[in-house]
Amino acid sequence: MTLLVTGGAGFIGSNFVLDWLARHDEPVVNLDRLTYAGNLENLASVRDDPRHVFVHGDIGDRACVDRILAEHRPRAVLNFAAESHVDRSIHGPEDFIQTNVLGTFRLLEAVRAYWSALPGTARADFRFLHVSTDEVYGTLAPQQAPFTEAHAVEPNSPYSASKAASDHLVRAWHHTYGLPVLTTNCSNNYGPYHFPEKLIPLMIVNALAGKPLPVYGDGLQIRDWLYVVDHCRAIDRVLDAGVPGETYNVGGWNEKPNIEIVRTICALLDELRPLDGGRSYAAQITHVTDRPGHDRRYAIDARKIERELGWRPEETFETGIRKTVAWYLANGDWVERVQDGSYRDWVARQYGAQ
Ligand code: NAD
Repeated sequence: MTLLVTGGAGFIGSNFVLDWLARHDEPVVNLDRLTYAGNLENLASVRDDPRHVFVHGDIGDRACVDRILAEHRPRAVLNFAAESHVDRSIHGPEDFIQTNVLGTFRLLEAVRAYWSALPGTARADFRFLHVSTDEVYGTLAPQQAPFTEAHAVEPNSPYSASKAASDHLVRAWHHTYGLPVLTTNCSNNYGPYHFPEKLIPLMIVNALAGKPLPVYGDGLQIRDWLYVVDHCRAIDRVLDAGVPGETYNVGGWNEKPNIEIVRTICALLDELRPLDGGRSYAAQITHVTDRPGHDRRYAIDARKIERELGWRPEETFETGIRKTVAWYLANGDWVERVQDGSYRDWVARQYGAQ
């Protein structure tokens, strides 16, 4: 038995691969294009583990995906691969359409051909699990109830529109062709190996470097936050017990305004890496012009996965954010290499990848 994970060198994918291999014997084939966001250094601890096979390639490359499926005969495909940064999608949406929409389409077609040819039980047990985001639901007013799986899909950014399109393709491949798919829509993740362009790692890294902490607009945009390992365990649970054709919202019941997240990080850094003279990192907070079309609030109603699959997050926001800040303090080398791009050299040395 084998899993095919796509995008397994990214933030959530690499956390998933590490967590999976720590808790299961089943091998993982990891297909990743190694964009700026893919970093094999995240997987250094399983470099010599024969249960982890890395393939440098694109989910949109049909021949490459066909080859992997034929060679490794996975019992499931988990699709983490995506362009994932909202700001980048505003400045250059094309890559998002290429990977998130066309790439997912080509992956689905390759998987459909493979799955159709599987013998009886293997065909019935096969799963395609698509990892998606709560951003597909659009924005919520303050008094509105959190998103359930029945909420209308109303994406507002090029990123969320491309993810919504991929979710629709996955749904259609189930309804039209019977492919046994599962979709998860998760809130904002945070934790180790998070690329420092996203809010939480950016604030930690900038604070430590004495740089401004840029907060969009009034900082009162609300997001729900989930520790990345809790997300990985939810995916594991959905793969194991989810009903094909269903979608599952995954969230931490942790609605927080962005400014509160930044203040919490500053307070933790004040405690764990105090500045001279009793100064606070909070003095570095700077409000900058808001992102165009910035959604005001996302909130996830995770009762379906809790009720039907018995999943619950293990971390509270307080424990998860403390672990995360501590991880960045202990892994300054990782941050430096990611920031100066030298992890690409490291990858070339370790894996001969481009
Ligand atoms: P990430 O940007 O850190 O990682 C994406 C990975 O996909 C990278 O390793 C990249 O090299 C790879 N990739 C990109 N294009 C590819 C292609 N065409 N073929 C093969 N590999 C490719 O993203 P992430 O934060 O780990 O997110 C993973 C998934 O989870 C995405 O689908 C994202 O939409 C979803 N998601 C993310 C969050 C979050 O808070 N980060 C929340 C909910 C859902």
